[in-house]
Amino acid sequence: MSGSEAQADVPVVVAGAGPTGMTAALALHARGVDVTILEADPKDRERPGSRAIYVHKDTLRTLENASPGLGHRLVDNGMIWSTRRTLFRGTEVFERTYSTPGGDGDLPHFTSLPQVWTEEYMLDAVEDAGIDVHWGDGVETVDASEDVVRVETKSGEEYHAEYVVGADGAGSTVRKEIGGEFDGTESANSFIIADIAEFEDEDEQLFKERVFHYDHPRVDGRNVLLVPFQGGWRVDIQCKDSDDPQRLTEDDAISELVAETLGEDYRDRVEWVSQYKFKQVIADRMVDDHDRVLLAGESGHLFAPFGARGMNSGVADAEAAASAIAVALNAEVESARAAEITQYGITRLKAAEYNKSAAGQALEYLQGDSYVTRAKKYLAAKAAPYYEPAGEWLDDAPYGPHGGPPVTIGQY
Ligand SMILES: Cc1cc2nc3c(=O)[nH]c(=O)nc-3n(C[C@H](O)[C@H](O)[C@H](O)COP(=O)(O)OP(=O)(O)OC[C@H]3O[C@@H](n4cnc5c(N)ncnc54)[C@H](O)[C@@H]3O)c2cc1C
Repeated sequence: MSGSEAQADVPVVVAGAGPTGMTAALALHARGVDVTILEADPKDRERPGSRAIYVHKDTLRTLENASPGLGHRLVDNGMIWSTRRTLFRGTEVFERTYSTPGGDGDLPHFTSLPQVWTEEYMLDAVEDAGIDVHWGDGVETVDASEDVVRVETKSGEEYHAEYVVGADGAGSTVRKEIGGEFDGTESANSFIIADIAEFEDEDEQLFKERVFHYDHPRVDGRNVLLVPFQGGWRVDIQCKDSDDPQRLTEDDAISELVAETLGEDYRDRVEWVSQYKFKQVIADRMVDDHDRVLLAGESGHLFAPFGARGMNSGVADAEAAASAIAVALNAEVESARAAEITQYGITRLKAAEYNKSAAGQALEYLQGDSYVTRAKKYLAAKAAPYYEPAGEWLDDAPYGPHGGPPVTIGQY
């Protein structure tokens, strides 16, 4: 089907009201571009689990720029933990406490809060900005031509847009419609992820620290990560090859794991539990052949969560997409217009490759069962009491390299 005869009746359609789609809409609105969001779910949907709890400073900055006050609202409702600690087979090998863990800038290095809250604050900002959101009417077809993109929704509504941002998540219809395909791998082990409610009374609460256990002796030598967020704890347990992950998510099993890792008081405070194999995949294209459709967030890539590159990279995509579209809309010459969008595709694909590699290093390190990997961890644990960098290496490695992709990822 060709949409080439139609005229655009809306500058930009964003598919998906997840964190990426809402950021794209806010960043476009901030640049004076009219935008409509089409979301498949109904407005009263329930989104599961705490998910992207670790929000990087760059993400806070992007949100603050797109909607003044939004970054600070996340900070005001999030929490910043001050201590990172690592134990090897029950013995502490590294601990560091920061006196100003958030730094002293106007926005902190990070904040930690449930993704549902972040989405709620984003939606408030979207509504305050007067951005149209059509709930319960997902995108079904996307037909791009040189001048316009024709979008048809489940209800049969048609939109003619100059640009479409596909922020419709891992199962993206937009990606499929532009002929994009995921390529990559899946983790060998399963991971159990649970949200545990924190006590309201501060006296009953655990000290807020991020703790990693190698071979936790109380849970049959599995690796365990404990991360606090505002209102709760995330318990992340790496299954062993012999585990039945489904069984470990059953009430009695997860309660036992939580009691052994967080403490007996938390046994009955499990709010959500799930099991995952993590995908490490990237779409083979981030834009369509006509430079009219841009993929952003999980429609374009999925990373293992170590290093918190999921939502944070989606927000970075959204900001870059809004910037490219705003420039392209003002271009006088077709080649300049198209070049903006092409460049978006190149830079965000490179950023995705960087993020995939970084998350992949963490995943490989965690799953690595080779003699060399095991020996390195063991020797580092032995050296840690005498040589701090060995302990720091054990503390750092489960999250991959620090930082995000270089800012100027070009063709060179
Ligand atoms: C257990 C877990 C832990 C995680 N931890 C972290 C973390 O610590 N840090 C981090 O940064 N990330 C983390 N993530 C990843 C993070 O949750 C995702 O990266 C983030 O939700 C992706 O946002 P998105 O907007 O791209 O996609 P989504 O959140 O999936 O949003 C896509 C939206 O598009 C809608 N949609 C789908 N199809 C259509 C359609 N055809 N038309 C219109 N709308 C459609 C969906 O309903 C949804 O609202 C975690 C994820 C999981 C599962």
